[in-house]
Amino acid sequence: MKRIALIAHDHKKAEMVAWAIENRAALAPHELSGTGTTAKLVAKETGLKVYPYLSGPLGGDQQIGAAIAEGKIDVVIFFWDPLESQPHDPDVKALLRIAAVYDIPIATTRTGAEWLIHSPFLNE
Ligand code: PGA
Repeated sequence: MKRIALIAHDHKKAEMVAWAIENRAALAPHELSGTGTTAKLVAKETGLKVYPYLSGPLGGDQQIGAAIAEGKIDVVIFFWDPLESQPHDPDVKALLRIAAVYDIPIATTRTGAEWLIHSPFLNE
């Protein structure tokens, strides 16, 4: 069982939900969390339990970064929007930085997420 955080920027939420539905069985054994809106959407559409942090622009990315630093998150799936700047871009950068500091596996694309969720390491 791994602790997986899910984050998707607004233009990427549909992709996140589609990915989560497609991979529901692979996600089900794990402990899921996410930024507020992403967590609620994924929970609603998959029926899985997803702990909601605050919404990203209101501090959710920072909360997830803090959880990484405290050793409470093992994997991050982060569909950020490469085509639009965000009001909380500094938080996004901080989250990517702290994930790198703690060597957390992080997928920022659907294919990356696909590979990560089907990695044999996920069950070790
Ligand atoms: P949200 O946050 O899931 O609450 O929309 C995501 C983000 O923009 O970082």
